[in-house]
Amino acid sequence: MRSKVIIIGGGLSGVLAAMQLAQFPGGPEALMIEKNPELLGRGVAYQYDFTHQPLNVVAGGMSLFPDRPMDFVEWLESNHFKYNHLIEKVSPQEFIPRKIFGDYVLENLERVQQEAAGRLQIRIDEAISILDFGNRKTVVLASGNALHADHVILALGNFPPADLFLHDNPVQNDLRYYASPWTDKVYSHIAGDENILLVGSGLTAVDIILGLILRKFKGKVAMLSRRGRFPLQHDLSHPAFQLLEPETRHPRKMLLWIRDLMKKNPDAPWASVIDVLRPFTKKIWLKWTTDEKKYFLRRIRPYWEIARHRIPAKSASLLNEMMNAGQLELKKGYIVEAIATDTGIEIVYRSERDDIRQVFHKVINCTGPESNYRKVRFPIISDLVGRGKVKTDELGLGIKCTPEGRIINEQDKIEEGIGDKVGKATFVIPSP
Ligand SMILES: Cc1cc2nc3c(=O)[nH]c(=O)nc-3n(C[C@H](O)[C@H](O)[C@H](O)COP(=O)(O)OP(=O)(O)OC[C@H]3O[C@@H](n4cnc5c(N)ncnc54)[C@H](O)[C@@H]3O)c2cc1C
Repeated sequence: MRSKVIIIGGGLSGVLAAMQLAQFPGGPEALMIEKNPELLGRGVAYQYDFTHQPLNVVAGGMSLFPDRPMDFVEWLESNHFKYNHLIEKVSPQEFIPRKIFGDYVLENLERVQQEAAGRLQIRIDEAISILDFGNRKTVVLASGNALHADHVILALGNFPPADLFLHDNPVQNDLRYYASPWTDKVYSHIAGDENILLVGSGLTAVDIILGLILRKFKGKVAMLSRRGRFPLQHDLSHPAFQLLEPETRHPRKMLLWIRDLMKKNPDAPWASVIDVLRPFTKKIWLKWTTDEKKYFLRRIRPYWEIARHRIPAKSASLLNEMMNAGQLELKKGYIVEAIATDTGIEIVYRSERDDIRQVFHKVINCTGPESNYRKVRFPIISDLVGRGKVKTDELGLGIKCTPEGRIINEQDKIEEGIGDKVGKATFVIPSP
């Protein structure tokens, strides 16, 4: 009898897991559960609403198939007519709108479903609990149904950003405050000439600004972040240099090693070192002790973030134009108080040693996905954490698992059947 696998989550990771399972003719039966029909095959990042926001990786780096790196580019070439109104030209160096990448992923999911001839089913529902029955797992759904499987793959993806305000602060439920930014709905109540605060200055804030520019926004935008730093711009003019083995000892040593590397490659922009490090990052992270990881998070992460999550030159120049026109401002500081008033949301933020008070018509939380499972208020997470089925990472970065993605429970044991190895395929639980 075929084994049964339930994949919870129908975003990119869920689709990749389904594609791997389907490629074995005698492989297991798979059932994908996705709670939001609009996100099926797209997930949060590549949803329909992101028609103009670009991928942060060039088309040549976005194939779903490691052995066919140009698959996405070839798919774009054969579908170019459909997208003529959205993309000027197709080339491996182009940053393509994220919605189009979502179309590509969804089309692959539909193709795999057809080819798997009944071995891959999709169901729209929310998984809220995973129970054990002997060697089998039972996934309980919000609809009240229960499904049985030999293995469960968690592909739960990006959680909404952490709350900015305490629960008893009226601002948290004020309609002028947007707790989650990943939907077109944020624009539906914005008047074109308002004063808007974006909390965070990373890629999500950039997405929102690009959406405002598209709508010919005439108001003002302030971005507030602790470091007051902005993502760097991709520089594709220098070919990537080769790296055989990176420094993996203490992060401080790695920093010195990067400096040395940059001296040897004086023409390359320093941020490009991130690209050559990409294949090694998992290995480096696993090698570091908790203290070393803490050191990295405290001292190096801010620089890593702006270099790892870069923006296309076109986005950077649109933002610069807005800054030069006095419409966009980057502030360094953090919120100490928020009060809902008749005219807007009054924010007090601390910058250096001063407290600055300013009223905004709208406040949008752009701080990025919450990665601390203890703070995520999704039923399935509360269930798994509450029953000790998963162990949260001490640094607040996801949950503990083996390098292959098998889940480690609160008793430091591998939780059989969840995030498991199935046949020849190995599934890595997507880290947030
Ligand atoms: C706004 C944004 C932009 C990004 N842009 C890029 C980019 O340009 N290039 C790049 O390489 N990476 C990008 N990323 C990183 C991106 O997160 C990953 O590339 C990838 O999309 C993650 O896929 P995922 O399946 O793990 O998560 P998600 O895309 O978040 O998918 C998870 C899915 O699981 C579903 N789900 C969750 N819980 C349940 C449940 N209990 N029951 C049923 N369904 C459930 C959700 O509804 C969702 O559809 C971006 C991320 C974000 C947030």
